[in-house]
Amino acid sequence: MLDLFEADGLSYTPRGVRWFLPDRIYLTKGWDATAGGRKLAEAIIGVYPQAEVFDCSDRAHNRVELGQINSLDAHYAGKRTLVLGVHKSAVRFSDEGENTCPNYWHFSCYGFCPFDCKYCYLAGTPGVKFSPTVKVFLNIEEVIGQIDRAAGRLREPTAFYLGKLQDGLALDPLTGYSRRLVPFFAQHEYARQVLLTKSADVDNLIELEHGGHTTLSWSLNPPEVSDAFEANVPSIAARVGAMQRCAEAGYPVRAVIMPIIPVEGWEELYSRFLTDLLEAVPLGRITLGQICSFPSALQLTEQKLGNSNVISEQLERGKSLDGRTRFPFDLRVQVYRHLIGAIRDVRPGLQIGLCLEEKRVFEQLGMETAIGCCNCGL
Ligand code: SF4
Repeated sequence: MLDLFEADGLSYTPRGVRWFLPDRIYLTKGWDATAGGRKLAEAIIGVYPQAEVFDCSDRAHNRVELGQINSLDAHYAGKRTLVLGVHKSAVRFSDEGENTCPNYWHFSCYGFCPFDCKYCYLAGTPGVKFSPTVKVFLNIEEVIGQIDRAAGRLREPTAFYLGKLQDGLALDPLTGYSRRLVPFFAQHEYARQVLLTKSADVDNLIELEHGGHTTLSWSLNPPEVSDAFEANVPSIAARVGAMQRCAEAGYPVRAVIMPIIPVEGWEELYSRFLTDLLEAVPLGRITLGQICSFPSALQLTEQKLGNSNVISEQLERGKSLDGRTRFPFDLRVQVYRHLIGAIRDVRPGLQIGLCLEEKRVFEQLGMETAIGCCNCGL
């Protein structure tokens, strides 16, 4: 098996990430199991000389104690903590029911992310709530081997999604993993990569041979909404600039507008933003989605924004089959109808998907044939 730092031409010098300045680094079980993983860990530690390093080789990556009782304190302590370890079951098939989304393959060479979105749904999921640290899994070659075997069994082009349990690119300057992943997918007969991010650092990607087998998706909102609900994150202008660079390099590029937040004047804000975006970037697909969070994620949102905030005030609690909290049906349909109209004005034929929505919403919008057309798949 190839070793990231041993194979010819694959050595990589980590670069710091502006959005991530850990004050503690934990070395957890398996971190030194391969020469490549150990070298990468040591090189990453070298990027952060200010960070205190703890050797916890006897502990799994999700067993690091942060010493915080309050969930918000633990959340922010986690965002300043880097855990280096291995993930033995990093390639999985999702298992969700009661909404229209098809299940799909996803993989994790990172866990969670350094950005600070006030609405973050991931922060409330059990895995992150109890282990809110930022994680780099050093067994990238093992993860690639697992993808290869799963795709070989499927024997048809299949998407493997990086971005379900992490930001797919935020830590790439540190790891250089895209330099290993993109060429792997490029030469694979069946495996395809779909990656979701808010990062604007695509320097590692531009020169790679991707063969059209890696699709890059950006999570976006109008700048006014991003400014209000996303902290410590690249600006929308920077993200759109990264999309343009990747599109010019030939990558298939998509956008995910999610969560759409109906702030005051949302109709005009979203119309203007979508027009600008569609004129600037040759998107292959756009996916729309609204708030669809579990209660523990909403508790964190309310700790960050206060109980009276424009998200909480419009939610309808306890009504959905899948346990997620959403805006009322009529508001959701009104929002989608407006945004879809704005998209159709500029790109009438563009594929439009709805993320984690209920069947009755597709029916009301006359979009039944779009069920299953979403960002997580091909
Ligand atoms: S980028 Fe995604 S995972 Fe990271 S804080 Fe924002 S919503 Fe959460």
